[in-house]
Formats: sequence, C-alpha cells, structure tokens
Amino acid sequence: MIKKDEQQLIQAIRNLKKEKSIYIIAHYYQREAIQDIADFVGDSYSMAVAAKQSPGNIILVAGVDFMAESAAILCPDKMVLSPEPLATCPMANSISAADVLAYKEQHPDSIIVSYVNTPAEIKAVSDICCTSSNAEKIINRFPQETNIYFIPDQNLAVNVAHKLGRKLDYFASFCPIHARVTKEDLVKQQEAEPGAMFAVHPECGPELVAMADYCGSTAGIINYVLTSPADKFIIATECGVIHAINKANANKQLFLASEDLICPNMKSITLDKILYSIEQMQTIITVPENIRVRAAMALEKMIAYGS
Ligand code: SF4
Repeated sequence: MIKKDEQQLIQAIRNLKKEKSIYIIAHYYQREAIQDIADFVGDSYSMAVAAKQSPGNIILVAGVDFMAESAAILCPDKMVLSPEPLATCPMANSISAADVLAYKEQHPDSIIVSYVNTPAEIKAVSDICCTSSNAEKIINRFPQETNIYFIPDQNLAVNVAHKLGRKLDYFASFCPIHARVTKEDLVKQQEAEPGAMFAVHPECGPELVAMADYCGSTAGIINYVLTSPADKFIIATECGVIHAINKANANKQLFLASEDLICPNMKSITLDKILYSIEQMQTIITVPENIRVRAAMALEKMIAYGS
C-alpha cells in the first residue's frame, strides 16, 4: 500500500465512505485523526447502541475485535468491517467459555454478568452483558441475594461491589493498561499538579479508585470533566480520552496519571488500514449464527436494562 500523507488519506477516506455509504464507529481510545473522521465516537456501550441505530448497511468499527463482533452480533443484516482484525484485547481473551461453564456447573443458580470486553463465545454463555457505563445499574437489577459471577475484569468487579455494598464472585483478570497505573504514579502527578481533580476508570485498581474525585466509564469521565467547574484534572484512563475532551474546546488542563496509559491494540488501527479496509471491503466480521443469537440476547438485555 502506498503511503499517502495524512490529509490525503483523510480526504480519500471521506470520499470513499460517502460513495459507499459506510458508517464509521470509533472508540475514544482511537488515534486522534480516526476520532476526527468517524461518524460516531463513543465508549463500548454507546458504540453498540450506535451500531444498532446506524444508517445504511455497512459499518466500519475502529476498535478492538470484540467491538466489531458486538456490532456484527447486534446487526446481522449489516456488513461489519474491521480495519485491523488482529487488534484485540488481552483481558477479553483471558477467559474461555469452558471457564464460565465450569463455574456454572458448580453454581447452577448463579447469574453470569459479562463485561462487553469478551469474545462472542463468552457472551453466548452469559445471562447479560454490561459495560463500565452501566455495570452498577445492571447488577442492581438482581436481588441482593443473587449469586453473580462477574467476568472477566476483577478491578471493575471489586470497584462495583464496593460501590454497591454487595458481594460479587469474579474472574481474576484485568486490563493491562488500566491496571498498571500505580498509587505512586498518581501521587507524583498530584505533587506536580496540585489542586487537580482526579478522575479514574473503574478498570484501575481499587487503591486508585479510593483516591478519586470521580470514578466512571470513559464517557462518564468526559462528562465529569466537561461539566465540572474545576479546570485542572488528572485522568486515569487511556490517553485517547484527552483528544475527545479537547474537541469540546472547554479549556481544561488535562494530565494523565501515567505516561503508560496507551493501549497498543487500539493504536494498531491507522488511517492507512481504514482506507484499505473500505477500498477492499475487508475484513468482514461474522459470528456463527448459533453463537450470535445467544450473544445477542445478552447484549440486547444489557441495552434494555442498562440505558
Ligand atoms: S484499554 Fe484495556 S480493556 Fe481496553 S482494549 Fe486495551 S487492553 Fe482491552
């Protein structure tokens, strides 16, 4: 593929997506230029809803594999393209359907709540999905005495359980990007930026959440920063959120809690790959129908209960 300069690439993508009526949905953790050419930018919850509501019959998902899969699960009549099918999420891949079924066998009355950061096979053996935007709301739908197995993010499970004051069983995995931020990283930034408010994603460890002025999903953090009267913030989530906030021209000073808050899988998607994808109409993401139907039930339930 011939390397074109960024402006040419952007123009070529804009022309071709218009000509082919392709709707681009991007995650907040995408590169800045990708956020800028997308028709919709959001977190994994709003991306799933946007896929369902998208106009036309072709969606390109600029995000990791489970995000494109969620679009394919929810929109069986649409073509879903991924510009980089190898962009994946190590946390999503850390659990197998066999792990879930083994738990279910031991705890037949349990409810399996799976984070959307899971492959289709895991959603298919789950009772309901959730995202960091709606995990509390989804879990609160079930009576206090319900045994809930929350998979696969242990930090999100522990943080939500603490907030709701209830016990959750959970699978012990984590996001390597959010979990790597330490208390020491934060303290260093707080010393450098005294008076800054601290907003944290619940995929970070509970010791960081305990120090936060606000804890919420990426969309929640953006909303918190934009609506807060404060003007200086330290943020613990992936660095792509900074561009998403700056686009609102709200004149906020933003600092990441750690310089390591960068997801290489999210950043493996580039403008070149998006152009190639819509030129060649590749890679089309499909989910076997027997899995798709069961996974769709868990995702649809999340959208119905969690909005
Ligand atoms: S930021 Fe973490 S949870 Fe999100 S895709 Fe990257 S590794 Fe997975």
